[in-house]
Amino acid sequence: MYPVKTIRLTLVAALMLLCSGTLLYGGIHTIRKGDTLYALARQYKTSVATLKSYNGIKDHRNLQIGQRIKIPGSSSPSSSSTKAQSSYPGSTVGRGKTVVIDAGHGGKDWGAYRGGVKESYLNMKVASKLEYYLKLHGYRVVMTRRSDSFLSLSRRASIANRYRNAIFVSIHFNATRNTWVRGAETFYAGAAGRQLASSIHRELARKCRMKNRGVRFARFAVLVQTKCPAVLVECGFISNSSERARCVTSSFHTTAAQAIAEGIRKYRWR
Ligand SMILES: [Zn+2]
Repeated sequence: MYPVKTIRLTLVAALMLLCSGTLLYGGIHTIRKGDTLYALARQYKTSVATLKSYNGIKDHRNLQIGQRIKIPGSSSPSSSSTKAQSSYPGSTVGRGKTVVIDAGHGGKDWGAYRGGVKESYLNMKVASKLEYYLKLHGYRVVMTRRSDSFLSLSRRASIANRYRNAIFVSIHFNATRNTWVRGAETFYAGAAGRQLASSIHRELARKCRMKNRGVRFARFAVLVQTKCPAVLVECGFISNSSERARCVTSSFHTTAAQAIAEGIRKYRWR
């Protein structure tokens, strides 16, 4: 065993968990920096006492990075990990399904740029949170980019085309010369993409309480070149100053990511 860091329980650390957890299949959570039993209990709708007894933990201040924590289901604790897996709500919804998340633009291509805000930066914020929420539901997630790097449109499509039983979701923010234009819109280029776009857009417009600009057909290269159901989500207009002020907030990124994840969860996979 290599030496591991001891994590101290703090409220700040508990809050940090929200976007840092790693849930593996089977109701197992691998401890990462910032994780606490308190936060895990909240995340998985259980109690600190249950997690302690379930995992034989005596001192909750001594969680270790890399430690695997069994997450019990809502029924009585069981030593069977299979049971824990099936009773964790949502954990297996995405099993066997791949979501290719494409954070639009990147590197030398900033996308839209208004009021000192780069679209490529916002796209990555939402994409990263979307990855987190999809993994909670057991989806396999592939990111076309993780860093602020340039990637051609055909390269993005070719990444998606490597996977079977997959969908492709490209994340963008919008801009136009008319600064009063605002709202969310979702694009598709094929029949399967249309269904996915409808499912995602319904949740996005509702949960983010945005002006609904609808689901639209567009032969964008990244949609046309992708073989699986593909959509391009425009989460809001950064050319509208009040919408931009909202779009840069962490809470908006979370809400948008949760909405898109919910739309994917409700999509009838074929
Ligand atoms: Zn864009």
